[in-house]
This record gives sequence, C-alpha cells and structure tokens, in this order.
Amino acid sequence: MPTIRILPDRVANQIAAGEVIERPAAVVKELVENSLDAGATRIEVEFRTGGRAYIRVEDNGPGLTRDDALLALERHATSKIAEAADLDRLATFGFRGEALPSVASVSRFELQTRSVGEESGTEILVNGGKFVHVHECGRPVGTRIVVSHLFNSVPARRKFLKSDATESAHIIHCVRLYALACPQAAFTLIEDGRVIFRSPECATTADRVAEIFGRQIAGSLLTVEAAEPGLRLAGLIGRPGTGRATRHEMITFVNRRPVDSRTLSYALIESYHEALPKGRYPLAFLFLEIDPAAVDVNVHPAKREVRFRAEAQVRAFVVRAVLDRLRELTADAGAGALVTGGPIGSMAGSLPAAPSAGSTPVESRIAAPFPVYRPLPAPFPPPAGDGGVRPAPPPAPIAVPGLRTSWRFVGVVQGAYAVFDTDAGLVLLDRRAAHERIWYERLRAQFATGRAGTQRLLLPVPIELDAITTALLVDRLEFLNDHGFEIAEFGRNFFRVEGVPEWMAPSDAEAFLRDLLGALREGGLGAKDPDLARDELARLAAARAVRLPETAGEAEMNNLGSQLFSCRQPLTSPAGKPTYVELSRGEIERRFQK
Ligand code: ADP
Ligand code: MG
Repeated sequence: MPTIRILPDRVANQIAAGEVIERPAAVVKELVENSLDAGATRIEVEFRTGGRAYIRVEDNGPGLTRDDALLALERHATSKIAEAADLDRLATFGFRGEALPSVASVSRFELQTRSVGEESGTEILVNGGKFVHVHECGRPVGTRIVVSHLFNSVPARRKFLKSDATESAHIIHCVRLYALACPQAAFTLIEDGRVIFRSPECATTADRVAEIFGRQIAGSLLTVEAAEPGLRLAGLIGRPGTGRATRHEMITFVNRRPVDSRTLSYALIESYHEALPKGRYPLAFLFLEIDPAAVDVNVHPAKREVRFRAEAQVRAFVVRAVLDRLRELTADAGAGALVTGGPIGSMAGSLPAAPSAGSTPVESRIAAPFPVYRPLPAPFPPPAGDGGVRPAPPPAPIAVPGLRTSWRFVGVVQGAYAVFDTDAGLVLLDRRAAHERIWYERLRAQFATGRAGTQRLLLPVPIELDAITTALLVDRLEFLNDHGFEIAEFGRNFFRVEGVPEWMAPSDAEAFLRDLLGALREGGLGAKDPDLARDELARLAAARAVRLPETAGEAEMNNLGSQLFSCRQPLTSPAGKPTYVELSRGEIERRFQK
C-alpha cells in the first residue's frame, strides 16, 4: 500500500504555480491585480526578455507591515475573504491567497514594501520557494516586487515558453486589459528599458481605449449603455460592417475583471448577426456589472473564465442592449445623420469598414486608375490549347475530362449557382467554390515560381496594431513582402501598407490585411515550411480577396467550368467544400415517383 503524505508547502506551492503561473504574463497579471486590489493609483510594470529574466511591478498602494508581508507569502494567506460566503460579495480580483507563494516558488522573488504609518520598509527575498532573508529597507510607501529567473527551477515549464516577442506581447496585452479595467489608475509599461505606454489617470474608458489602442480605433467605436435590475452594461462597440476575422478584439469584463466569457462573446456575435457577414467578429470593449452573488469567478485556475448563475438572462440582456444601439444607429442614418447606407441588413455584405468619424474609407484614399490591377475575369488564362493570344473561343459545351460527358449551360440561379444540363442529369455549379479553386491553384503556381508582382498604392494604408499582432506580423513581414505585399514598419505598432499583390483589388487591401492578421493570431502562416505557409496564404487569398465576377452569362460560366476542370483538384474548393453537385436522371425520376 502506498503511504499517504501531506506535501511540504514548497512542493504544494510549485504545483499550484503550475496552474496559476503558466507564463510570464501570468506573473504580471497576479501582481497588477494585487496592486489594484490594494487601491494603488499608480502602477509601473517593467520587464526584460519577454519576462523570463526580469519582471518588476511597483505601486503606490498602502503597502504591508513586516508581519503581513511575511504572512502574505504563506499559502492561502489573503486579506480579501474570510469565508466562502465572501465570494458572493467579492469586490477584488484576488481571493485565493495563492499568487505570491506560487510565484515565489518558481522564481527569485524580492518583495519590498512599506506600509502607511511605518518609518521604514521591509525587504523579503525568496529563491525557488526557499526563504533567504528578511530585513529592513528604505523605500516610499507602497510595494515593489521583482521576479527574476522565472521558471529556472522548473525546466518543464520553461520549455513551453514561446519566443521572447510572443511572451512580451502577452505581457503587454495583459497590462492593457487591466489598464482598460481601471482607467482611474495611471499605468506605465516598460520593456527592455523602453516605455511601451504611459497612460495617466483617465476620466473614461473611451479615453483609455484611445490612449492604448490608438485613436484610429477609438474614434470609430460607438458607446453602448444599458441597465436592468441587477445588471448594467457599458462599453464601446464597433460599427456595423466593421468586423474582424477573429474574436481577439472582443474584449469583455465582468465586474471589471477581464474574462473570456462564452456567454458574452456569443451574445455579441448574435447581436451583430445582421450587421456583419458570417464568420466575422465585432470589435468590442464591454463592461458588465452584475451582483457578485450571481456570478462564479472561481471556475478557472487563472480566473480568466466566469460562470453566470442566470446565463440566459445575461445573454438576453446583452443582446438587447447591443442590438438596440445598433438599431438606433440605423434610425439615425435614416434621419440623415452620421452613417450613410441602408438598414443594417443591407450592409451585411460589405466588408470594408462603414464610413466613420476619424477614419476615411479605404476606397476614397486609394486613387484610381491602377495600371496593373485588372478585374478578375480578364486574367483567367484562355482554355487549354488556345495559344494564349486570341480571345476565348465561342462557348462550347464543357467537355468534362474522364467522364466522357458534356455540360450544356442552362442558366444561373440565385446568382450563386450555374445550372448545366448533362447527359447524365443536372449539375449545379457553385460559382464561388469553383472560382476559389481556380484562383487558389493559380496563386499556388504563381507563388511556386516566385513571380508575385506588386502594385504600389498611391496612398499607403496606415495600420495600427496591438502588441501581439505586431510581434506576429514582424515575424512574417519578409514572407509577405516576398509574396507581393509591401508593408513597412514605421514606429511601434504602426505599419504602412505601400503595395499589395497584383491579384488583389486595392480597395480590398485593408480588409484583407486585417483578416490576414487575424489568421496570424490564430497561428496561421506560422508553418516553418515556407511551402505550407504559401499554401495557407493562397487559401486565404482565394477565400477573401478574390472577387466573384459580376457577369455570369453563358460564355463566362462555360469558361468557369473549363477552368475548373483544368485544375488539379476540381471537385472541391480550397476549403474542401464541393464545387458542384450532380442530380442524376435516376434521382430526378425518383423524386417525381416515375
Ligand atoms: P490574494 O490576492 O488572492 O489575496 P496573493 O497571494 O496575491 O493572494 O496576495 C496575498 C496578500 O498579500 C493579499 O491578500 C494582500 O493582502 C497582500 N498583498 C499582495 N500584494 C500587495 C500589494 N501590492 N499591496 C498591498 N498588499 C498586497
Ligand atoms: Mg492576488
């Protein structure tokens, strides 16, 4: 029989650390939460080499006495709750009393603190969970914690860390979230000796958003506010038509705590159902206030997720609030204010951002005409065997290779499907899927030969990004520039798109780039093998940047069919969906019960 033992504190702490402290950003998160919980109004965060070597968090809060400081390093020592029922009244970020001992167990941990009313401060040093010393020190009131050599004693954890740039991006994102959550505190963030942002106390969330996410984004958002008994929602949301390819810019808070809440993100997505095309996500900074007893924050080790007791009610409330705001906007538009364009529904198909204060629509910034860019139908190579010089021959039925059958064009239904009569029955060709397949293979071939031409934009498109996306983009910049883009970095988190590949309509450049950045954040184009990355780029381009030609007559549809069947894999779109479906004569007769 194995003997049961109580684990020594040091081991228990390291195990707890494994859950709470997954990466350097988690240390920053815990320390910043503590400073805010203590009521600090000035917080400075400094880190080096992605936080691995050095993290310092310093505040002007009330500090700790020597006894309290020693106690704070014990497991389950907290000043924030006394009993389980206090969780129902929770008004602080922390409550488990686990963070400090966890961090101290996996790093060299130095705490200096002086409490109000004390003459001198206390310094405590712990190394890899082993107590080293405690003595007096001089310092102003407040607390300063320096964490260095993170995970030195936990090689397994070190192995999971990503590049410095990625870890640093996570830290920056984390500090931004808390800066948003608490605009009334001043924040300074310093990386490797450089100030990344310094934001004074702000009067409103909107000011804070502008301070740290950029005025370009802030200026384009709408405010939303709503309340019902027990619930209050406030925040900023994107305009109809301004979507993102990923959920990363849907930022949600519950009682000021930054959380990933499925309930809130689904509510948001649902609210934008008619305001954004399928697969696009809104931009949002949403703050939900709710009775602490109606939400469980104790469901995730890092407290990133929460559970609502009345989930359906919260969801319905948020949907109503956001929808009302979006509808109000549409009503304004009808009265000739702010936004041009029809009802929200009719904007759904338009990818580029709806016109908004502070940002000029892309189209108007890019001057026509472009000598290089040709609309899509033209660049299709003429059908095989046609010398490549003369215009396409008069339409003839499509000979489907290998099937010894031919397709005769009947018409186009719903704008989307071309109907063909065949010897075997009926074919419905999905124009979009076929078109994407053809373009995908063309782009693959073009990338493989390294002939990716660029068209320069007359007016470069400025793009401002957050730190994580910046790090990812910098990593792929060379790759993109080798494939027809011309993107230059100018200033921290700012880029300028000076050229786009020839195959892209310049007016699509910004929307496509935002999608591309979204894909990067999801781990896209990350393949070490450039061939795989090229494949992804071609797939993305075919799906997002290639427009369906407007004309869909017999000649065009026959041409589309022949193009498709000269592809290597004509049966599916690059996303693996069928390009056409066939109804056999037998099937048709069965349907008519013949
Ligand atoms: P928790 O935040 O869950 O209470 P921690 O381990 O993070 O647990 O912190 C333990 C205790 O140390 C806190 O409850 C608080 O009393 C004290 N403390 C930590 N950081 C600070 C700080 N920056 N200023 C004042 N007190 C702090
Ligand atoms: Mg804490």
